[in-house]
Amino acid sequence: IYISMSHRLKLANDKLRVLSEIDSLTSTLNRRTFMEVADKHLSLAARHGFPTSLMVLDFDRFKQVNDRYGHAMGDKVLIQTIDVIQAVIRDTDVLARIGGEEFILLLPHTAREGALMLAQRILDVVRNNQIDAEERSHDSNLPENGLSVTISIGGTTCATSSTNLDEMMSRADKLLYAAKQAGRDRYLIEAVPMRDTAHLSQAS
Ligand code: GH3
Ligand code: MG
Ligand code: MG
Repeated sequence: IYISMSHRLKLANDKLRVLSEIDSLTSTLNRRTFMEVADKHLSLAARHGFPTSLMVLDFDRFKQVNDRYGHAMGDKVLIQTIDVIQAVIRDTDVLARIGGEEFILLLPHTAREGALMLAQRILDVVRNNQIDAEERSHDSNLPENGLSVTISIGGTTCATSSTNLDEMMSRADKLLYAAKQAGRDRYLIEAVPMRDTAHLSQAS
């Protein structure tokens, strides 16, 4: 079948575009693409008055995982943990890798109650997931019953148009830090009080 040069270029471009949007280790979105997608979601949500929740997730004591079991095993932990998280979120939720072992999750149409339930669910599936290690025979370090890890979560919900993405991310980050301080393997999710700022945005 003859494929025109312009069509071939288009296919190549599509492939490049997808590669530049996806993190190659975990197949989640990268930070830049997340910011674009999340911004669009938030403006839609503001226009229609839908609540949106946002969480940052960070692996607990991940340096120890690498130190004890090696970087390749660390990578495997990231891949398999993200897989179990993908399995409990919705197709319409947006998951992205924003740092080495730090991820962000945007939950469209989700108020605080939904975010709390999902955060608990995520903590549970991650804690109960045994990372399967084919290299066990080479690596006597690995625990008998498989390796498991935990994560901590900080999150926030915006109920109206009053909060922008950067502000939500920095609020979620502060709560993630607090969850770490409080002992890890837990979530802290704040609700932003409902404020009607329509008159403010009209004035500016
Ligand atoms: P905390 O519970 O406070 O988050 O402890 P931590 O050790 O996870 O915290 P820190 O942020 O200091 O360390 C993160 C570690 O994650 C450091 C780095 O070696 C490791 N890491 C980051 N990205 C990757 C990756 O892609 N693969 C592997 N294997 N390790 C990674
Ligand atoms: Mg960490
Ligand atoms: Mg980290």
